[in-house]
Amino acid sequence: MIIKTIEAKKVNLELLHPVVVAIGSIHSCETVVVKVETEEGIVGYGEGIGVTFVTGETVDTILSAVGVLKNELIGLDPFAIDHIHSVMDRTLIHNASAKAAIDIALYDIMGKHAKMPLYRLLGGIADQMETDLTVMIGTPEEMTEEALQIVGRGFHHIKIKAGLHSEEDVEAVRRIREAVGPHIHLKIDANQGWSAGDSIRIIQKMAELGVEAVEQPVPAWDIDGLAYIRSKSPIPIMADESCFSPQDAAKLVKKDAVDIINIKLMKCGGLYRALQINTIAETNGVRCMLGCMMESRISISAGAALVASRPNFIYGDLDSFFYFKESPEIRGGFTCTGPRLKLSEEYGLGIKVDF
Ligand code: MG
Repeated sequence: MIIKTIEAKKVNLELLHPVVVAIGSIHSCETVVVKVETEEGIVGYGEGIGVTFVTGETVDTILSAVGVLKNELIGLDPFAIDHIHSVMDRTLIHNASAKAAIDIALYDIMGKHAKMPLYRLLGGIADQMETDLTVMIGTPEEMTEEALQIVGRGFHHIKIKAGLHSEEDVEAVRRIREAVGPHIHLKIDANQGWSAGDSIRIIQKMAELGVEAVEQPVPAWDIDGLAYIRSKSPIPIMADESCFSPQDAAKLVKKDAVDIINIKLMKCGGLYRALQINTIAETNGVRCMLGCMMESRISISAGAALVASRPNFIYGDLDSFFYFKESPEIRGGFTCTGPRLKLSEEYGLGIKVDF
């Protein structure tokens, strides 16, 4: 099989509720949909979304990166996924979201050619997974109200954003725990917001409140800090911004710095690299979570299939599509009941795109 064309276009995703910030409100965000077609007429779809403060990418850099990469990829076999990633990496460094968009489209093609849904192509038997939902930073009262709404919708796992003011972080978690009761699973994401010293003190309090994991307490570069915190912490420590690549994962496990790695397709370059990171983690006794950026059904379907196919993923944090109105242009992939995403039995991703 041979890749014949690679095209990319921007798609607007409308938010269910505007995100209000100090200087105005955001009503929508844009993503890039990639369409790869083979000479045999099989079409695969992928998606890349830019988050400037995480990957340094925007929709425009993704469009331009796909333009650079496609020249090197046309004529290659979509099944030569290892070779394709090495071609992409030696053609253009970084630009992980652009690479992820191509990677996801190639897995869609492989599934369609093999006549298998993606979760089965990846070797799994489970056809569904459970996601958490995130409570964003607000006042402790607002955050508690949001947590109660999430529990009311049937979710068992809540991820709480923290890291701006450590005392308020603890207060918010205390109130949320009181409100939701002892059986809801709580994780905290500090998004690099604490110092190593503060982390030890805060995590001790979080542990007393039954928090079961703390994500990225310290800056991304501070691997020694993560290792120090982990050596003192009574609960698991998770890396997010400290782990983009399989090489990052190898460094983290060598330094005994983490218990869990938060893999995101947009950080690592897609399913192939995510599988590599998961293997490094699993063989070193480290568990994984699959996280997401503001991705639509396309990339969320790919992520959900990955989580469903690999028991080493103990958490799914694939909640971005809950923030969007259903897009008329992007359909399928999975059906959603409360926190459960049930994957499509159609071949590949099972996604339909007007493109
Ligand atoms: Mg995070």
